[in-house]
Amino acid sequence: MSGKASENKGVAAPTWYEPGLDHVWLPYAQMKTAPPPLAVKTTHGSRIVLADGRELVDGIASWWTACHGYNHPHIRAAVESQLALMPHVMFGGLVHEPALILARRLAMLAQDSQTCDLDRVFFSDSGSVAVEVALKMAVQYWRNRGIRGRNRIVAFTGGYHGDTTGAMAVSDPEGSFHVAFRGLLPEQIIVDLPVDEATTAAFEAALAHRADEVAAIIVEPLVQGAGGMRFHNAGVLKTLRAIADRYEILLIFDEIFTGFGRTGAMFAFQEAGVVPDILTLSKALTGGTLPLAATIARRNVFEAFWSDDPASALMHGPTFMANPLACAAANASLDLFAREPRIDQVAKIAAALRAGLEPCRKHHGVKDVRVKGAIGAVELEGIADVNALRQRFIAKGVFIRPFGNIVYLTPAFTIGDDDLARLTGAICRVVAEGC
Ligand code: PLP
Repeated sequence: MSGKASENKGVAAPTWYEPGLDHVWLPYAQMKTAPPPLAVKTTHGSRIVLADGRELVDGIASWWTACHGYNHPHIRAAVESQLALMPHVMFGGLVHEPALILARRLAMLAQDSQTCDLDRVFFSDSGSVAVEVALKMAVQYWRNRGIRGRNRIVAFTGGYHGDTTGAMAVSDPEGSFHVAFRGLLPEQIIVDLPVDEATTAAFEAALAHRADEVAAIIVEPLVQGAGGMRFHNAGVLKTLRAIADRYEILLIFDEIFTGFGRTGAMFAFQEAGVVPDILTLSKALTGGTLPLAATIARRNVFEAFWSDDPASALMHGPTFMANPLACAAANASLDLFAREPRIDQVAKIAAALRAGLEPCRKHHGVKDVRVKGAIGAVELEGIADVNALRQRFIAKGVFIRPFGNIVYLTPAFTIGDDDLARLTGAICRVVAEGC
């Protein structure tokens, strides 16, 4: 049924490709009309090696996860050692060294640059689930404190928090990928980010008459990623913190995209100087090697669950939470952050992205060029055919996947200068040719 051959002319697709493609369901893809997916044989550094022998420079780092590049030997060795000991054991009634070491390290890291008590870590296995856990924590926090009716979440236009039902409900209802599910989703309060006087007043007004229904505010701090690579400044987060405090509402920062150096600091909340009550992490947590996520709560949040009443316990527990292999990978990833100059590398990438993408600004159809840390985005007036555009990048030897009207780069922090120049050069050429 696929009727699709692997890309490269003259090179036979691997034997597993066609038979398997007829049985797999691909993400966010109209499989009937989308170009056939590329068969990948292996990865290394910032390169994706295809089964047909081509090698692409990767501009995305597998949805922003592979911050140390692919196949880092230190992470691989840590996972191999853990595999010999114990690939998995349930986390109910049992704990293990990689998880407890990791929980403590994450708490220490969160406290690194400022006094904060974000120190209780709940593990799960994907970013969306980490968000679900954060939302449940917030709602149950109020219930455990004997306050009923605080079941709603305030979230923002342009936001994206994942693909599960709770996470979809706090993502932008129009701009996100969730329009089809509107009838399924619980109603939340979606407003504009308070970026100026008018939006701050509107935000306050929305809260003023519903504050006693609201459990928490959730935001991606400094960068709204999948919603369009939109940036805001620390002042916005300070406003959110002040308003949350005024109305006694919990503040959740979703750092699944921004965490682990992407914006130029280890965590965006540290860069902004604003401490949330709950923090979600995933993506680069394991250096992009294994699925793992963490929802980290401040002490006062955890204390609301600390009780003689069994019903006050947090009612969540994914089967594969705190998977030992994933925790070992995460610990190894944190070793690399500690001993290699990742944050300096991000600053250098930021400078190279600025210099490399700036020439796009002069081209017809370019609305904006913006860079924050190791995130570079060219916003276009529109993209006529996103699949065709993606193919043009592949033809230039780079893996770049525009979405909406955004062409973006989120490379590995270890990417070489030449590879980064190939990525920015490819974007400039494609934009110059017209999209
Ligand atoms: N939150 C943010 C900010 C994200 O960028 C994403 C994924 O892109 C998610 C949550 C969902 O993470 P996952 O795809 O691992 O479920």
